[in-house]
Amino acid sequence: MNKRATVQPQGRHFHRWRIAEPNGPVSEGLCRECGATREFRNWLAESDFITNEEHRMTRAA
Ligand SMILES: [Zn+2]
Repeated sequence: MNKRATVQPQGRHFHRWRIAEPNGPVSEGLCRECGATREFRNWLAESDFITNEEHRMTRAA
């Protein structure tokens, strides 16, 4: 539900991302099917953590 639709499926398949070794704040992912590349973040934005905490607290109430 919180997924961000940043990846647009291309063609008739879901990309099968092969993630490279972490090298800085992002890792490069390579699709084994079509060779498409994409950058994946190796960290979560601080605001995301705060948002998750707030959701947890709301549920616990
Ligand atoms: Zn692909």
